[in-house]
Amino acid sequence: MSCKEQRTIGQQPLAESAGLGRALIGEEEIAAVTELLRNPERLFRYRGNEPTESSQLEKELQEKLGVKHALFVNSGTSALTCCLVGLGIGPGDEVIIPAYTYIATASAVVNAGAVPVIAEIDDALGLDPLDVERKITPYTRAIIPVHMQGVPARLSLLRALARKNNLKVVEDACQGIGSRYNGDYTGVGSDAFAWSLNYFKVITCGEGGVFFTNDDTAFLRGVYQSDAGTPMWDSGLKGDLHVPPFSRAGYRGNELNAAVARVQVQKLDAILDHTRHLKQTLLTHLAEPVHYSRQHVDDPAGDCGISFAMIAEDESAARRLSEGLAREGLQIGTAYNDGFPDRHIYTYWDSILNKRGSNHLNYPWGDPSYKGQVTYSKDMCPRTLDILSRCLRLGIQLNMTTQRMQEIAEIINRVDRAL
Ligand SMILES: *Cc1c(COP(=O)(O)O)cnc(C)c1O
Repeated sequence: MSCKEQRTIGQQPLAESAGLGRALIGEEEIAAVTELLRNPERLFRYRGNEPTESSQLEKELQEKLGVKHALFVNSGTSALTCCLVGLGIGPGDEVIIPAYTYIATASAVVNAGAVPVIAEIDDALGLDPLDVERKITPYTRAIIPVHMQGVPARLSLLRALARKNNLKVVEDACQGIGSRYNGDYTGVGSDAFAWSLNYFKVITCGEGGVFFTNDDTAFLRGVYQSDAGTPMWDSGLKGDLHVPPFSRAGYRGNELNAAVARVQVQKLDAILDHTRHLKQTLLTHLAEPVHYSRQHVDDPAGDCGISFAMIAEDESAARRLSEGLAREGLQIGTAYNDGFPDRHIYTYWDSILNKRGSNHLNYPWGDPSYKGQVTYSKDMCPRTLDILSRCLRLGIQLNMTTQRMQEIAEIINRVDRAL
């Protein structure tokens, strides 16, 4: 059944769409931005009770996701920082993050004044609940599961562990926009969560992020973190200042980006229908693996379908698999190797591993209120490095076809059997 080949999303034929959301930027986005630029008085997000692009985007996302609050900001890093500061996490606290995520997850913890603690990943390529448990100290306040490449981390276990230890859960869904877990969008069942809308994500407005929470107080605090002028703007928040305002950063999102983001949100379901269908086609045609295992996916229905990862039985099998696939025209390297410094792996986060703060006080590590003793080293997460050195990942893009997915499955089957 090869039904979707002629499909378009928006006005864009899928066959021409390398990438995800960015590949679909076209006339609708151009029209939305042009319309705004023709009305320059609409270029600022706070306009009293008048709806703005940002406020409408937020409302549309609240409804779509079933979450009480959303705040559009300028990046995913900012959104994550709003989550943490919103929940009252800061100086003296430790926050557990996975060893495999974009460095921004660690930066957000530092931005909040807290200390990142790096834990192992498991075969879901997400935070390993067992290692999280080992890394909990009296100072731990939160954990940040990250849904890498659209695959949810082991959320049931992680949320239960957090509940048991009285920790907050902030989900980094920057790469997992639209992913679900037990039917809900990821993040909705946790204390707060963040999306990134940067150029590389499932949907994009070039740069942007969204901070989400169901908690009124966390939301207000996150809003203060995002914009020093919050209580002074003529914003819809005026009526609800039950938390005294404080002044922090400048993360305010801009209206042009919000206008693009609103169009992209309209395309999200179609993007994921397509990628999920492609991944399902691949999985259906894959034979039982011989020399690799598939990435564990806790809730396959909630997977964004934007990537497929094979974990080879050992490094030699990974190398031979990769070479065999390359001979068949499929360039898939291992995630961790000597050739390519992948910023998503903790060994490349020099600024964190060296505990380098922004000034001579060297906060958060030099903060006198921090009583913990976090240590970092390049070999501190051997399991993560082992998994990633055996992990081959195929990115699934909009311009792929079901026929191509069948071919890829056959190539993988052939190379794996011949190994
Ligand atoms: C992209 C990304 C971020 C940060 O997003 P920016 O918008 O670039 O600040 C955070 N975490 C993960 C896992 C990401 O992939």
